[in-house]
Amino acid sequence: MSARCPICGRPAEPRERPFCSRRCRDVDLGRWLSGAYAIPAATPPEDEDDPGADGLDTGRQSA
Ligand SMILES: [Zn+2]
Repeated sequence: MSARCPICGRPAEPRERPFCSRRCRDVDLGRWLSGAYAIPAATPPEDEDDPGADGLDTGRQSA
């Protein structure tokens, strides 16, 4: 195995692959999350669950 930690470049620990430690894993996760939050075009999964029936039918039935 020649995998290296993408965060600090040290040899990756099999336990924490592909990172060398839990700390680097957290760092990478933080980067990934901040990157995901930076995308404003992200659509919530709820929208894909019910396309078309976006509360219109519910409103009708209620009224
Ligand atoms: Zn590391």
